[in-house]
Amino acid sequence: MVQPYRHEPLTNFTVEANRDAFLAALKKVELELGRDYPLVIGGERIMTEDKITSINPANKAEVVGRVAKANQELAERAMKAADEAFRTWSRTSPEARADILFRAAAIVRRRKHEFSAWLVKEAGKPWREADADTAEAIDFMEYYGRQMLKLKDGIPVESRPGETNRFFYIPLGVGVVISPWNFPFAIMAGTTVASLVTGNTVLLKPASATPVVAYKFVEVLEEAGLPAGVLNYIPGSGAEVGDYLVDHPRTRFISFTGSRDVGIRIYERAAKVHPGQIWLKRVIAEMGGKDAIVVDKEADLELAAQSIVASAFGFSGQKCSACSRAIIVEDVYDQVLNRVVELTKQLNVGDPAEQATFMGPVIDQNAYNKIMEYIEIGKQEGRLMTGGEGDDAKGFFIQPTVFADVDPNARIMQEEIFGPVVAFAKAHDFDHALEIANNTEYGLTGAVISRNRANLEKARQEFHVGNLYFNRGCTGAIVGYQPFGGFNMSGTDSKAGGPDYLLLHMQAKTVSEMF
Ligand code: NAD
Repeated sequence: MVQPYRHEPLTNFTVEANRDAFLAALKKVELELGRDYPLVIGGERIMTEDKITSINPANKAEVVGRVAKANQELAERAMKAADEAFRTWSRTSPEARADILFRAAAIVRRRKHEFSAWLVKEAGKPWREADADTAEAIDFMEYYGRQMLKLKDGIPVESRPGETNRFFYIPLGVGVVISPWNFPFAIMAGTTVASLVTGNTVLLKPASATPVVAYKFVEVLEEAGLPAGVLNYIPGSGAEVGDYLVDHPRTRFISFTGSRDVGIRIYERAAKVHPGQIWLKRVIAEMGGKDAIVVDKEADLELAAQSIVASAFGFSGQKCSACSRAIIVEDVYDQVLNRVVELTKQLNVGDPAEQATFMGPVIDQNAYNKIMEYIEIGKQEGRLMTGGEGDDAKGFFIQPTVFADVDPNARIMQEEIFGPVVAFAKAHDFDHALEIANNTEYGLTGAVISRNRANLEKARQEFHVGNLYFNRGCTGAIVGYQPFGGFNMSGTDSKAGGPDYLLLHMQAKTVSEMF
């Protein structure tokens, strides 16, 4: 019997031993920066001339690693390897598959700070954010391993005298896993192992900004005993390799996490049946958010301000769950706004490798430019209260930025900025606040800060988001506790880290026998 699932605790960095261990991990990783990494196809290491250069967003001059880059020919080779490996992997017992996840979780747990240190360097995550990302990756392995053990015998159905019926799940085939850079470990690992533990084989295309940590994870799965060809590592251009694999007739499903526009593109392309294709592809798409925290007039206003600041600026606002809209009932609007501005001014922005840093850089030059453009738009659409400045001389740093008095239909209230920018809107009353909160094409996360039970119950029904939180911030879902995923343009309503997630990677078979 496996032990019951329990989420991986976060590290307490006020304990000196933990702090020292983290510093040592950062040193170790620093010595390993700048190396070259190959593709892994059918267990074979393949180095290409063309490379993706992964840099430290806090220090552009620092090369984290150079990773081989797949083209269509190599993607085709990977598809053949995955197709071939599917024959044996799909028939490997669920217990054996789950054990590989448990072993991989144990390996990562032993090297936890080392993985987090890679996240500090490659994604610009401050310590606490990196530690949470690594813990979540461990959680996905532990949780999905256990979920597979629960699902392995299927679900009982009725039988009749002389007739026995069974209903169980079988794998789908080759899955293409396309992951984002913002949870470069947790989401990359979670979507990969969910696909693997259910008996599918995988072509993993990690985000081009964060391919090194993905390579390190591929090594862990190999060490844990994953057979060659079951997981193929093929970083490459989204347009070139991504489109090719999404269109491929042997692709059975696509597990995508990323932006709305790329998600829509994948969904549309995957719908087309190509010559030789004998199935309809399944698409799991987790997309963007325009998440709101609503503050009622009867509320703990200090909690409200703290929640807004933590949710808006944690990891520089680069979370799909980040609070980018603060919707405040007019009676307490000024109080909450002023306190948020005060707290924001106290935030420590700087090098994520320093323990004291609350907020590091944004991921790359494109993100920097886009966010700075939105800040210019924000200056037209609202009142700049604090922040608004950027500096990309050394790394991609943007001050945490607050805009007040923004119209609910303004661009900065509608479009995902994916940076450290929050817009405040004033509501006449609680109903109006909910109306503003729902005035979006997204529906990922939301929070309500209120002491009014009736209003909370109203929000439970009316606030149309996949993850709704009461009296806390809107980020930080935990695997197995808060299954995560959104409505509308936030994706295909799938819930990562939830009890029905693995079913999306399988198909059900009914066998009826007459005696
Ligand atoms: P992105 O859409 O730019 O890229 C995501 C992945 O798609 C990358 O690996 C990229 O290379 C790949 N890609 C790009 N073009 C492609 C194509 N034509 N075919 C196939 N693949 C292609 O997103 P990003 O900037 O990496 O991540 C940030 C976005 O992800 C935000 O919008 C955020 O809200 C969203 N996100 C959502 C969730 C969720 O659970 N809903 C979680 C994390 C991030």
